[in-house]
Amino acid sequence: MQENNTKNNPYYSRTDKTKLNVPDSEWKKILSPDLYATAREAATERPGTGKYNKFDGLGEYYCAVCGNHLFRSDAKFASTCGWPSFFEAEKDGVIYKRDSSFGMERTEVLCKRCDSHLGHVFNDGPPPTGTRFCMNSISLDFVPDAKTEAK
Ligand code: FE
Repeated sequence: MQENNTKNNPYYSRTDKTKLNVPDSEWKKILSPDLYATAREAATERPGTGKYNKFDGLGEYYCAVCGNHLFRSDAKFASTCGWPSFFEAEKDGVIYKRDSSFGMERTEVLCKRCDSHLGHVFNDGPPPTGTRFCMNSISLDFVPDAKTEAK
């Protein structure tokens, strides 16, 4: 499900791990307005509206802006918060930044490769980590696992 995001995006790659340093003026030309608002201006989807909120397909989640590997579906859990939630991120997937906006102390989660805003992380998640990565669906690209033959 990466129909709009990767088209005309020369920076999108699921294999290239090179850190990107692309100015927002350039991203604005490449990304859809909705993705730009979330990824580069930290807008938050309305709860319950994202395409991956109540989605339980098996596969991998990548950054919708740059293709960096962020999460596996087996770290996704059925959160009632209204956004797709994961209990752990892939190694080298994300970085963290203190966020004091809106009168709250939160930890923002950004893509490690392109510094795009993904969501926030909280410490009220399920075992084994107790962590809840609360993500915006639009910032994610899901790629399903290859179908395996039933034996
Ligand atoms: Fe990224």
